[in-house]
Amino acid sequence: MFLIHCPYCGEHREEEEFHATGQAHLPRPLDPDSMTDEEWGHWLYYRKNTRGVHREMWVHAAGCRKFFNVARNTQTYEIYATYKSGETLDLPENPTVTETGSILNMAHGASDITKEQSS
Ligand SMILES: [Zn+2]
Repeated sequence: MFLIHCPYCGEHREEEEFHATGQAHLPRPLDPDSMTDEEWGHWLYYRKNTRGVHREMWVHAAGCRKFFNVARNTQTYEIYATYKSGETLDLPENPTVTETGSILNMAHGASDITKEQSS
């Protein structure tokens, strides 16, 4: 068992309360009607299969039921940070886990998490 920090509840909760829902930060097409079937299918179904640092969208299914983002390593299962939907997080190239074992195990300041720009 490990704990995941919900950025909305502000608590570390057991992993059984959460579900991963897929790759994070996928911008919706501005004009889906102008896309070919192939482009639309690619947007709907094709996702990165990252080895290493990856950003995913998770939901706190047995808690507040809100969606949020997780930056984690797919090889080591380390979670570097969790942050609210609509925010971005700048990670160093090779993030490391602190010795405290905190789930927010990347030392970062508030300036590292910013609101996504809607364009
Ligand atoms: Zn929550």
